Amino acid sequence: MGAQIIDGEAVADKIRQEVESDAAELKSKGLAPHLVAVQVGENPASRMYTNMQAKNCESVGIEYDLRTFPEDISQADLIGEIGRLNNDTAVTGMILQMPLPRQIDARQVQVMIAPEKDVEGMHPVNMGRLFYGGGHVAPCTPLAAVELLKRTEPDLAGKEAVVVGHSEIVGKPIAMLLLESLDASPTVTVCHVATKDLAAHTKRAEVLVVAAGVSQARWLGYNRKKKKGEDVQPPALTPLVTADMLREGAVVIDVAINRIPKGFDETGEPLKNKKGKNAMKTVGDVDYEGALEKVGAITPVPGGVGPVTVAMLLQNTIACAKAMG
Ligand code: NAD
Repeated sequence: MGAQIIDGEAVADKIRQEVESDAAELKSKGLAPHLVAVQVGENPASRMYTNMQAKNCESVGIEYDLRTFPEDISQADLIGEIGRLNNDTAVTGMILQMPLPRQIDARQVQVMIAPEKDVEGMHPVNMGRLFYGGGHVAPCTPLAAVELLKRTEPDLAGKEAVVVGHSEIVGKPIAMLLLESLDASPTVTVCHVATKDLAAHTKRAEVLVVAAGVSQARWLGYNRKKKKGEDVQPPALTPLVTADMLREGAVVIDVAINRIPKGFDETGEPLKNKKGKNAMKTVGDVDYEGALEKVGAITPVPGGVGPVTVAMLLQNTIACAKAMG
C-alpha cells in the first residue's frame, strides 16, 4: 500500500482560516493584530519574503507594515528604532528581515525585540519558555513540523521519535516541542552530524523528522572549491535518508529544503536548462520515491513543511496580539 502524502498546503489553508477568525475576534475586542517587518537596505531576496508576508497577512486580516531603514544605519540607531516599535502599542508583532548589512550584528539586534512581539519565536526568553513550557510562541518551522506530525499521528505517547538535525532554530526546538507533554510525549532521540550510525536510529523510528540539508551543503561546498580552482569531483547528491533506513509504516516529516543541480556533465559542471542556467531541483533529505513504498505517511518537498511554516508565522502573530491583550 502506498504512503499517505501529507498535504502541507491543505493544512496551511486550515490554519489560515483559524487565524482569520481569530484576527476578526481580536479586532472586535480592539486588539487589531499588526505586524511590522524591519528591513535594512534593499535586497531582492528579502523583498520576495516581505511581499509574501504582506500577501499572507492581508489575506487573513492582519495589518502589515514594512519599515525600511537606510543600508548604512548604525546598530545603535537600529536598536533605537526597534525600541520605538516595542513601545508602540499599536504594533503587536515584529520581524527582523535578513540579510542585514555588515555593521549590524543580527543576534544583538534580534534580542532587542520585546519577547511579547517576537513573532518568529526566536528570542532567548521565548526559547526558554519553550524549554520550561507555557510559552505563547515558538520558532515557525519546528511548529510547522510538529503540527503536521500531530495532525497525522495524534497519539505520540511513548512512540519512538527520531529527529535528525540539532540546530537552534530547527532540530532542537522540534525535540523540545515533542517533549512538551508531561505524560503523552514520544521518546525522543536527536541525531546530528557526529551521530555514528544514523541508520540504526532511523530504522527504529516510528516518527522521523529530518532537518539536515545535507545534499545542498555538499553542493555548495563543491561549488565553493571549484570556484577557487581546486581539483574536485562532483559530490553524490543522494538523499541522506534512503528507503532502507526507514521503518515500515513510519510517519516521516522532511523539513529539509535542498536546492541542488539535477545532475553534472563530464566536466563537473551542472547540467543547464533551456535558458543556459544551472538546471536545479528542490528536494528534501529523504528519498521520497523510495519512502512512498515503505512508510505510512510522508511530507513532500516542496509542499510539506514549507507552506505550514508561513501559516505558523501568522499563528504566532495572533498569539503575540493576544498576549498583549
Ligand atoms: P543547519 O545547517 O543549521 O543544521 C544542520 C543540522 O544537520 C545540524 O544539526 C547537523 O548536525 C545536522 N547534520 C549535518 N550533517 C548530518 C549528517 N550527515 N547526519 C546527521 N545530521 C547531520 O540547518 P538548519 O537551519 O537547521 O536547517 C536544516 C534544513 O531545514 C535545511 O535543509 C533548511 O533548508 C531546512 N529548513 C526548512 C524550513 C522550512 O520552512 N521547511 C525552514 C528552515 C530550514
